[in-house]
Amino acid sequence: MKSPLIVANWKSNKTLEEVKEWVEKYTEESSQNDKQIIICSSFTLLSDLKNLISHKNLKIEIGAQDLSAFDSGQYTGEVNAAQIKDFANYVIIGHSERRKNFNETNQILEQKVTMARNYDLEPIFCIQGNDTYIPSGVEIVTYEPFFAIGTGNPDTPENAEEIGGMIKKKGFRSFLYGGSVNSENVKNFTSMPSIDGVLIGKASLDPLEFSKTINAS
Ligand code: PEP
Repeated sequence: MKSPLIVANWKSNKTLEEVKEWVEKYTEESSQNDKQIIICSSFTLLSDLKNLISHKNLKIEIGAQDLSAFDSGQYTGEVNAAQIKDFANYVIIGHSERRKNFNETNQILEQKVTMARNYDLEPIFCIQGNDTYIPSGVEIVTYEPFFAIGTGNPDTPENAEEIGGMIKKKGFRSFLYGGSVNSENVKNFTSMPSIDGVLIGKASLDPLEFSKTINAS
Protein backbone atom coordinates (compact mmCIF):
# COMPACT_ATOMS: atom_id res chain seq x y z
CA MET A 1 0.00 0.00 0.00
CA LYS A 2 1.31 3.45 -0.88
CA SER A 3 1.94 6.00 1.84
CA PRO A 4 0.44 9.34 0.86
CA LEU A 5 2.17 12.69 0.95
CA ILE A 6 0.14 15.17 2.99
CA VAL A 7 0.90 18.86 2.49
CA ALA A 8 -0.73 21.52 4.67
CA ASN A 9 -1.08 25.03 3.26
CA TRP A 10 -1.82 27.35 6.18
CA LYS A 11 -2.03 30.34 3.82
CA SER A 12 -2.00 33.76 5.57
CA ASN A 13 -3.20 32.35 8.89
CA LYS A 14 -1.91 31.90 12.44
CA THR A 15 0.06 34.02 14.88
CA LEU A 16 2.97 32.57 16.81
CA GLU A 17 0.72 31.92 19.83
CA GLU A 18 -1.74 30.05 17.61
CA VAL A 19 1.05 27.94 16.16
CA LYS A 20 2.21 26.99 19.64
CA GLU A 21 -1.34 25.90 20.48
CA TRP A 22 -1.64 24.02 17.18
CA VAL A 23 1.56 22.07 17.85
CA GLU A 24 0.49 21.26 21.42
CA LYS A 25 -2.89 19.94 20.30
CA TYR A 26 -1.49 18.12 17.27
CA THR A 27 1.05 16.38 19.49
CA GLU A 28 -1.80 15.13 21.71
CA GLU A 29 -3.99 14.05 18.79
CA SER A 30 -1.54 12.57 16.30
CA SER A 31 -0.66 8.93 16.25
CA GLN A 32 2.40 7.17 14.85
CA ASN A 33 2.21 6.81 11.09
CA ASP A 34 4.50 6.39 8.11
CA LYS A 35 3.01 9.25 6.10
CA GLN A 36 5.12 12.10 4.83
CA ILE A 37 3.72 15.33 6.26
CA ILE A 38 4.77 18.82 5.20
CA ILE A 39 3.45 22.05 6.71
CA CYS A 40 3.76 25.22 4.66
CA SER A 41 3.48 28.28 6.89
CA SER A 42 3.98 32.04 6.53
CA PHE A 43 7.63 33.14 6.43
CA THR A 44 7.41 34.71 9.90
CA LEU A 45 6.49 31.35 11.45
CA LEU A 46 9.03 29.10 9.76
CA SER A 47 11.75 29.42 12.39
CA ASP A 48 9.49 28.83 15.41
CA LEU A 49 7.58 26.07 13.66
CA LYS A 50 10.85 24.30 12.95
CA ASN A 51 11.91 24.59 16.61
CA LEU A 52 8.53 23.48 17.97
CA ILE A 53 8.42 20.44 15.68
CA SER A 54 11.91 19.44 16.64
CA HIS A 55 11.21 19.99 20.36
CA LYS A 56 8.14 17.72 20.18
CA ASN A 57 9.95 15.23 17.98
CA LEU A 58 7.16 15.32 15.38
CA LYS A 59 7.60 13.66 11.99
CA ILE A 60 6.75 16.82 10.05
CA GLU A 61 8.75 18.64 7.40
CA ILE A 62 8.53 22.33 6.65
CA GLY A 63 7.70 24.26 3.51
CA ALA A 64 7.21 27.90 2.53
CA GLN A 65 4.25 29.13 0.50
CA ASP A 66 6.23 31.33 -1.87
CA LEU A 67 9.72 32.66 -2.54
CA SER A 68 11.34 35.56 -4.31
CA ALA A 69 11.96 35.20 -8.02
CA PHE A 70 15.32 36.89 -7.35
CA ASP A 71 18.49 36.10 -5.46
CA SER A 72 19.58 38.18 -2.46
CA GLY A 73 19.98 41.90 -3.06
CA GLN A 74 17.97 45.04 -3.65
CA TYR A 75 14.47 43.56 -3.57
CA THR A 76 12.77 45.22 -0.59
CA GLY A 77 10.17 43.02 1.07
CA GLU A 78 11.18 39.83 -0.72
CA VAL A 79 12.25 36.58 0.96
CA ASN A 80 14.74 34.66 -1.12
CA ALA A 81 15.44 30.95 -1.49
CA ALA A 82 18.70 31.00 0.49
CA GLN A 83 16.88 32.59 3.44
CA ILE A 84 14.06 30.04 3.26
CA LYS A 85 16.49 27.14 3.05
CA ASP A 86 17.59 27.88 6.65
CA PHE A 87 14.18 26.58 7.79
CA ALA A 88 12.44 24.65 5.01
CA ASN A 89 13.01 22.03 2.35
CA TYR A 90 9.89 22.65 0.25
CA VAL A 91 8.12 25.59 -1.32
CA ILE A 92 4.68 25.93 -2.91
CA ILE A 93 4.93 27.69 -6.26
CA GLY A 94 2.11 28.72 -8.60
CA HIS A 95 -0.80 28.61 -6.18
CA SER A 96 -3.86 30.06 -7.91
CA GLU A 97 -4.26 32.67 -5.15
CA ARG A 98 -0.83 34.02 -6.07
CA ARG A 99 -1.52 33.84 -9.78
CA LYS A 100 -4.79 35.74 -9.29
CA ASN A 101 -3.98 38.24 -6.52
CA PHE A 102 -0.31 38.88 -7.24
CA ASN A 103 -0.30 38.54 -11.03
CA GLU A 104 2.26 35.76 -11.10
CA THR A 105 3.00 34.94 -14.73
CA ASN A 106 4.54 31.81 -16.24
CA GLN A 107 7.82 33.70 -16.54
CA ILE A 108 7.85 34.64 -12.85
CA LEU A 109 6.93 31.10 -11.86
CA GLU A 110 9.73 29.75 -14.02
CA GLN A 111 12.20 32.08 -12.23
CA LYS A 112 10.85 30.94 -8.86
CA VAL A 113 11.32 27.27 -9.72
CA THR A 114 14.89 28.02 -10.84
CA MET A 115 15.59 29.85 -7.57
CA ALA A 116 14.11 27.01 -5.53
CA ARG A 117 16.25 24.45 -7.37
CA ASN A 118 19.40 26.59 -7.03
CA TYR A 119 19.04 26.42 -3.26
CA ASP A 120 17.86 22.84 -3.02
CA LEU A 121 14.24 23.64 -2.16
CA GLU A 122 11.73 21.16 -3.63
CA PRO A 123 8.98 22.99 -5.53
CA ILE A 124 5.39 21.85 -4.97
CA PHE A 125 3.99 23.29 -8.17
CA CYS A 126 0.26 24.02 -8.48
CA ILE A 127 -1.63 23.64 -11.72
CA GLN A 128 -5.24 24.48 -12.38
CA GLY A 129 -5.72 21.95 -15.17
CA ASN A 130 -3.85 19.69 -17.55
CA ASP A 131 -3.00 22.62 -19.82
CA THR A 132 -1.27 24.73 -17.11
CA TYR A 133 2.37 25.41 -18.03
CA ILE A 134 4.84 23.55 -15.79
CA PRO A 135 8.44 24.86 -15.77
CA SER A 136 11.33 22.43 -15.99
CA GLY A 137 12.76 21.47 -12.61
CA VAL A 138 9.36 20.56 -11.19
CA GLU A 139 8.82 17.02 -9.90
CA ILE A 140 5.85 17.39 -7.55
CA VAL A 141 2.70 18.65 -9.29
CA THR A 142 -0.52 19.54 -7.47
CA TYR A 143 -3.80 19.80 -9.33
CA GLU A 144 -5.97 22.44 -7.67
CA PRO A 145 -8.99 23.49 -9.75
CA PHE A 146 -10.25 27.04 -8.96
CA PHE A 147 -13.78 25.95 -8.14
CA ALA A 148 -12.57 23.51 -5.48
CA ILE A 149 -10.28 25.78 -3.44
CA GLY A 150 -11.82 26.81 -0.14
CA THR A 151 -15.35 26.17 -1.40
CA GLY A 152 -16.24 22.87 0.22
CA ASN A 153 -16.85 21.64 -3.32
CA PRO A 154 -14.00 19.26 -4.28
CA ASP A 155 -13.45 17.92 -7.77
CA THR A 156 -14.43 14.30 -8.26
CA PRO A 157 -11.72 11.74 -7.47
CA GLU A 158 -12.27 10.31 -10.97
CA ASN A 159 -11.57 13.64 -12.62
CA ALA A 160 -8.50 14.24 -10.43
CA GLU A 161 -7.31 10.74 -11.31
CA GLU A 162 -7.70 11.46 -15.02
CA ILE A 163 -5.55 14.60 -14.71
CA GLY A 164 -3.10 12.66 -12.53
CA GLY A 165 -2.76 9.96 -15.18
CA MET A 166 -1.93 12.57 -17.82
CA ILE A 167 0.58 14.34 -15.56
CA LYS A 168 2.28 11.07 -14.59
CA LYS A 169 2.54 10.11 -18.27
CA LYS A 170 4.52 13.32 -18.83
CA GLY A 171 7.10 11.94 -16.38
CA PHE A 172 6.46 13.95 -13.22
CA ARG A 173 7.41 12.07 -10.05
CA SER A 174 4.46 12.87 -7.76
CA PHE A 175 0.92 14.03 -8.34
CA LEU A 176 -1.20 15.58 -5.57
CA TYR A 177 -4.79 16.75 -5.51
CA GLY A 178 -5.88 19.89 -3.61
CA GLY A 179 -9.23 21.59 -3.10
CA SER A 180 -11.64 21.10 -0.18
CA VAL A 181 -9.99 17.90 1.04
CA ASN A 182 -10.96 16.87 4.59
CA SER A 183 -11.15 13.82 6.82
CA GLU A 184 -14.40 12.71 5.17
CA ASN A 185 -13.24 12.70 1.56
CA VAL A 186 -9.44 12.30 1.68
CA LYS A 187 -9.44 8.53 1.15
CA ASN A 188 -11.47 8.90 -2.06
CA PHE A 189 -8.50 10.78 -3.50
CA THR A 190 -5.54 8.96 -1.97
CA SER A 191 -6.95 5.58 -3.01
CA MET A 192 -6.70 6.58 -6.69
CA PRO A 193 -3.70 4.98 -8.44
CA SER A 194 -2.22 8.19 -9.89
CA ILE A 195 -2.76 10.35 -6.80
CA ASP A 196 0.25 10.32 -4.47
CA GLY A 197 -1.11 12.70 -1.89
CA VAL A 198 -3.11 15.81 -1.11
CA LEU A 199 -2.64 19.52 -0.47
CA ILE A 200 -4.90 20.69 2.32
CA GLY A 201 -5.86 24.26 3.18
CA LYS A 202 -8.75 24.83 5.57
CA ALA A 203 -8.77 21.34 7.09
CA SER A 204 -5.12 21.72 8.13
CA LEU A 205 -5.76 24.76 10.32
CA ASP A 206 -7.44 22.72 13.02
CA PRO A 207 -5.01 20.17 14.53
CA LEU A 208 -7.78 17.69 15.34
CA GLU A 209 -9.25 17.75 11.82
CA PHE A 210 -5.76 17.62 10.29
CA SER A 211 -4.83 14.66 12.39
CA LYS A 212 -8.11 12.92 11.47
CA THR A 213 -7.43 13.64 7.80
CA ILE A 214 -3.96 12.12 8.04
CA ASN A 215 -5.36 9.01 9.75
CA ALA A 216 -8.08 8.65 7.14
CA SER A 217 -5.78 9.15 4.14
C1 PEP B 1 -5.35 25.33 -1.11
O1 PEP B 1 -5.67 26.51 -1.22
O2 PEP B 1 -4.20 24.97 -1.36
C2 PEP B 1 -6.37 24.40 -0.65
C3 PEP B 1 -6.24 23.16 -0.98
O3 PEP B 1 -7.38 24.93 0.11
P1 PEP B 1 -8.67 24.16 0.71
O4 PEP B 1 -8.23 22.82 1.20
O5 PEP B 1 -9.14 25.07 1.82
O6 PEP B 1 -9.65 24.07 -0.41
